[in-house]
Amino acid sequence: MSGDPAGEDDADDQTFKHAIVHMILTRDTEAALERLAQRYHIAPPGIRVGHWRGHKKVLAVYISNRRTIFVAKNEDMWNPFVILHEFYHHLRSRSGQHRGTEKLADAFALEYIRAYGELERRRMSSSTFHS
Ligand SMILES: [Zn+2]
Repeated sequence: MSGDPAGEDDADDQTFKHAIVHMILTRDTEAALERLAQRYHIAPPGIRVGHWRGHKKVLAVYISNRRTIFVAKNEDMWNPFVILHEFYHHLRSRSGQHRGTEKLADAFALEYIRAYGELERRRMSSSTFHS
């Protein structure tokens, strides 16, 4: 698939990823999911706090026939890794592709977190130099 999100590394891409992680951390998860969906040209997933039947032990799960992410605890709503991992399942659910999805979902989430960390580091070190 061309335009693989993890493959792009330009400034706009970094800024976008930083913004998404920042929104999730600042508890604006629904807005973050809307922006993600816009970017990938899909409808945003629903998101609910609570267990989905048969998935009591997991932190979160994406139920594709509901187009909804279920997170077990309220605080998981603001965990970028959890939200981005589940968003990846939403993104890929159209194609009905399941094999290897967990690793890819982890990689997708980690790439956003990496971009966030890198930008934060750059901002912090440049403010140190210029103060
Ligand atoms: Zn998963």
